[in-house]
Amino acid sequence: KSKKIKARKRALDPDVVNKIAAGEIIVAPMHALKELIENAVDAGSTSIEVLVKDGGLKLLQITDNGHGIDRDDLPILCERFTTSKLKEFEDLSSIGTYGFRGEALASISHIAHLTVTTKTAGSSCAWRAHYGDGKLIPAKPGQNAAPKATAGRGGTQITVEDLFYNVPTRRRAFRSASEEYAKILDVVGRYAVHCHGVAFSCRKHGDSGVSISTPASASTVDRIRQIHGSAVANEVVEFNCEDKKFGFRSSGFATNANYHVKKTVILLFINHRAVESTTFKRAVEQTYSAFLPKGGHPFVYLDLEIEPNRVDVNVHPTKREVNFLNEDEIIELVCTEIRSKLAEVDSSRTFLTQS
Ligand code: ADP
Ligand code: MG
Repeated sequence: KSKKIKARKRALDPDVVNKIAAGEIIVAPMHALKELIENAVDAGSTSIEVLVKDGGLKLLQITDNGHGIDRDDLPILCERFTTSKLKEFEDLSSIGTYGFRGEALASISHIAHLTVTTKTAGSSCAWRAHYGDGKLIPAKPGQNAAPKATAGRGGTQITVEDLFYNVPTRRRAFRSASEEYAKILDVVGRYAVHCHGVAFSCRKHGDSGVSISTPASASTVDRIRQIHGSAVANEVVEFNCEDKKFGFRSSGFATNANYHVKKTVILLFINHRAVESTTFKRAVEQTYSAFLPKGGHPFVYLDLEIEPNRVDVNVHPTKREVNFLNEDEIIELVCTEIRSKLAEVDSSRTFLTQS
């Protein structure tokens, strides 16, 4: 029998609600960075520079050379659901760009100090704006909150400082800056491999050298070499696979039977967004089990494009998971293609050793 519980209902302070919502989207510095990289790519950038201090908790700065943001758009930039990428709900089925929820910048502004410096081609100067809790705020207390004219190059620089400064429990959960930096490098590395035509760099504050540096002109194999090393890049085979019936097109690079590592490395992009898929990972491992020694695993980069109306990107705010129609059939087709490439290399190797 159910007991009646008398509870006093109290509306949560909207600030608390916003902080909770933000914390669901941005769990670690890498999640803020991923959103900022996707925005920079959306803006047509050919150069993206990342600067990190204390694993991204003290500073996360990303500088792009994209189309910039209009001065008039700055006052509402960090309001939730303000996006230039989605006009009608129906647009959800035809989005071509990464973002569409208009939540990333808003979320960041609730849990960090956010500064935006931006210049469009049509503007004679750059504009700098500071944000807190979704709104423009002055650079210093007592000053005017309006964006200030400043010198700057074309493009946008987003500075995120003191992430989780107002969420002490979350802040305390981070034990190691180098662990967070490793996750940041993983994210930058994924996009650096995928986004051909875009130069990427990532640097730790105080370090003289860069951790990642790929020129805009680098080929995909060169990008794989820069990020994952020659041992991988020398042994990859290209594959392509598409099917009209399932509305997809894919291409990628997978290591051949000469290469193996302890853990499977998968770079999976669905409609140009880095995502995870345990189904795909399992299928890949199954495919390679016939080619690699026991305990050996491959490297696979897959660029998968699926008709937007077949993809449900709206499953979770973090967008790490993506559902799409005919997932099993598509994965099977891709793995069959990889298998036939592996078999080709395998037989040519046998042929070479025989001759
Ligand atoms: P979304 O990407 O889902 O639209 P965001 O909160 O990530 O939402 O960004 C809000 C808006 O800010 C974008 O729609 C875009 O118009 C603008 N914006 C953000 N970052 C950049 C950037 N680096 N360059 C140009 N415009 C940007
Ligand atoms: Mg975005």
